[in-house]
Amino acid sequence: MKNIITAVNVNKYFDQFQALKNINLEVRHGEVMCVIGPSGSGKSTFLRCINQLERIDSGGIWVDDELVGYRMEGKKLYPLNDKQIARQRLKTGMVFQRFNLFPDKTALENIIEGPCQVLLRPVKEATQEAMALLERVGLAHKRDAYPMELSGGQQQRVAIARALAMKPKLMLFDEPTSALDPEMVGEVLAVMRSLAAEGMTMIVVTHELGFAREVANRVVFMDEGGIIESGNPEDVLLNPQNPRTQNFISAVL
Ligand code: ADP
Ligand code: MG
Repeated sequence: MKNIITAVNVNKYFDQFQALKNINLEVRHGEVMCVIGPSGSGKSTFLRCINQLERIDSGGIWVDDELVGYRMEGKKLYPLNDKQIARQRLKTGMVFQRFNLFPDKTALENIIEGPCQVLLRPVKEATQEAMALLERVGLAHKRDAYPMELSGGQQQRVAIARALAMKPKLMLFDEPTSALDPEMVGEVLAVMRSLAAEGMTMIVVTHELGFAREVANRVVFMDEGGIIESGNPEDVLLNPQNPRTQNFISAVL
């Protein structure tokens, strides 16, 4: 199986502060990787580097065999321009903790915005596909609702549908249920679980260890900008080897 993500010796600084320390990681097509770790450990920064919301300082990230942010000519690397970066970014869909829907657009309009404006798809086709996506996240009946009229869980499901509408090769989830009331966590995890079952490649930053154990092929524990431990969910979650992983897991449970 081919890698969809390859990260090699990735370092990222914010001024003097090193947010990512020598990250090495591979994700294969169809894999679900859950990233866990305390607040401030670099989880979001890592996702943002994959999606080029941040630029790494050294090392390399390949998404689907393409070096992120650079093109190679001979043996020299040249940074990509904004347009080229935007094109690369289309390979990944991202879902954030806060739902970030356009407040003045309906659920349906939120979903067709990207396909119509960026991919230049005809409205009719985009609408048909958006309706199928709304169906898939259980919200076909909410097509004309504005974000304000939707619960947090419903908004997050629309946000997932919106990301999927761009047909990404990889979905990045950054604590998608952390901002939700507890009774809405399950409905969002259910959508993510079904996506995983359909073979979508996903990197999920989450504190939902039950979800990680059930759905992930691999769990990565990060602390202070580094990967401290990674492996199959049973090993990392039930039998962690590193004391920092042990402490974190017993604190979350
Ligand atoms: P996590 O998602 O694991 O909670 P983050 O990736 O958000 O952690 O942050 C990792 C560290 O980098 C934190 O110490 C955070 O304060 C710092 N950091 C993140 N983004 C920035 C930024 N834009 N400027 C300065 N420091 C940042
Ligand atoms: Mg974060």
